[in-house]
Amino acid sequence: MSYGYHIMPSTAGARPGTVDGRATAGTAGAAGGRATAGAARPVTRSPDEPTLLPAGRTNAIGQMIGVVGDEWNLLIIRAAMFGVTRYCQWKHELPISDAVLTRRLLRLTEIGVFERVEYRSRRYEYRLTRRGRGIWPILLAIWWWEAKWVPERLNALPQVAHRGCGRELSLAVVCHECGEQVGPRDMDARLGPSGAWSRWAPESTTRRRAAPPDERPPLMYPQTTALIGNRWSAVILGGAFQGLRRFREFEVRLGAPPTIVADRLRSFCDIGVFRQVPDEGRADRPTYRLTEKGHAFFPVIILSCDWAQRWFHAPEGPAIVMRHPAGGHEFRPRLACGGCGGAMSARDIQVAGCT
Ligand SMILES: [Zn+2]
Ligand SMILES: [Zn+2]
Repeated sequence: MSYGYHIMPSTAGARPGTVDGRATAGTAGAAGGRATAGAARPVTRSPDEPTLLPAGRTNAIGQMIGVVGDEWNLLIIRAAMFGVTRYCQWKHELPISDAVLTRRLLRLTEIGVFERVEYRSRRYEYRLTRRGRGIWPILLAIWWWEAKWVPERLNALPQVAHRGCGRELSLAVVCHECGEQVGPRDMDARLGPSGAWSRWAPESTTRRRAAPPDERPPLMYPQTTALIGNRWSAVILGGAFQGLRRFREFEVRLGAPPTIVADRLRSFCDIGVFRQVPDEGRADRPTYRLTEKGHAFFPVIILSCDWAQRWFHAPEGPAIVMRHPAGGHEFRPRLACGGCGGAMSARDIQVAGCT
């Protein structure tokens, strides 16, 4: 199926061949009606302005996990980047049920990723907003990480090059301010005023149960969703990037239930993102370190956090305060070519042999 191979969005219009002329309105209803809880709910006045989050609730990172941590969302957004705007087009592109697609479109519209527009009498389409298009670098970083580090997928992925230098695609994160390349050790990230780990839980977490078989995603990004697909995975990964090493540290500092810590540490070791290293003087108690594969996930994390904080504002202030100490300024990431350092936008990518 073709939907697994696309990483390069079209720059205009719908894809030819997918508009069948019988486009029906999505069955997703208007977002209104349920949003009556006043200040306890996020307020999005316009998709092009940041959403104002209620005090003390899910922070920007939790909002992001709710979007980026869901594989169906990623697939829906990626298809939209290729020009898909209508319900039937997503149905054509993805092995997705009506219930799942309807719910995701409703939620992504609520959260400002899509704008629902009537294009003909009672026919609606969903257009990516600026906030929605801002997810593109995250999708590219996810695609690249999975391509490089999940070997069982390698055969299925096309050759991709940077147009600027012609070299095989590689990604680097650079500082928006000074242009220097930045890795996890070159920046300083600490929890800000709305950063408490307890506020990383996406809003829908408590309502979510195990998905019935027809709602399970096709696992295009299996390891990404293992890493950021839910609050505790993301929290434990965030803790590791903050320097946590020991079981007790993850449990106490993050407030994570021990059974969940045990489960996540085991699965992160299984997929090779963490490795166990004996603790000095306590050979019976391992420490958990990020591997090279784990460190390589940095672009996904940092771009996701940046997107989150660009578009979701808590009244207390940011969830994560990022600085670039070498430059003495605030840190905001930008994606660049790892080969030549050149710009990395949708137009800068060339896919070989991809139809
Ligand atoms: Zn800098
Ligand atoms: Zn390049």
